[in-house]
Amino acid sequence: MVVGGCSYKMTKNWFLRGTLKGIKTEKFPAADPLNPPLWPSRLNGSGDVQCPTDAIKDGIWDEQRCIFCRRCLPNYKPTEEQDIFTVRENTNEFRKSLNIYFVDTGSCGSCNTELSTIFSPRYDANRLSIFAVNTPRHADVLVLMGVLTEMMKEPLYKALEAMPEPKAIVLLGTCSITGGIMGKGVLLPEDANLILAGCPPSPYTILEGLERLKGGKK
Ligand code: SF4
Ligand code: SF4
Repeated sequence: MVVGGCSYKMTKNWFLRGTLKGIKTEKFPAADPLNPPLWPSRLNGSGDVQCPTDAIKDGIWDEQRCIFCRRCLPNYKPTEEQDIFTVRENTNEFRKSLNIYFVDTGSCGSCNTELSTIFSPRYDANRLSIFAVNTPRHADVLVLMGVLTEMMKEPLYKALEAMPEPKAIVLLGTCSITGGIMGKGVLLPEDANLILAGCPPSPYTILEGLERLKGGKK
């Protein structure tokens, strides 16, 4: 009984705490982000600099190569703009819901963390009908993170094969897009439906990119 009483009290406190705090979920992407990070965000500037990944060539910044190492400061500065993603192809098939399955082919762990964050109360991807699933057989979208390591080639191709049609591929983070400073990208960027830049991409970039892939508009 004591255990039951304790559990009731804890539940009650949890409920009251939640009620007192109010709703913490942001309205993003319908509204502007409340607290956009400077790194990563779109870089603006001019001039040639010593960039370790050739993300700046002839004065043009390439978001898909940038590892946001800040070496190009002060010539290039972050703007807080979070829309550093490219939707290559979207389809109406996913407009009602988007089920995503993650495959880490060789990341440092940070891309995983940022992707998981979109399901936290602050961003609450579920309110946009974006869900994480535990098997590629239930997935609409395969989200790939990290460089392509030898050991992960087979699991990646098996996951791709197991997915039902229609399916989409998302490259998340510089490693999976261009390999960053470590290796090769997982697939060619032109084979992906959505490319999310950042090292790692911020939850705002991930959330808005996935929403656009679904066909949602700002
Ligand atoms: S932040 Fe680093 S990787 Fe990105 S453009 Fe600047 S120097 Fe290159
Ligand atoms: S893109 Fe950056 S954060 Fe993501 S796995 Fe590569 S090194 Fe880590």
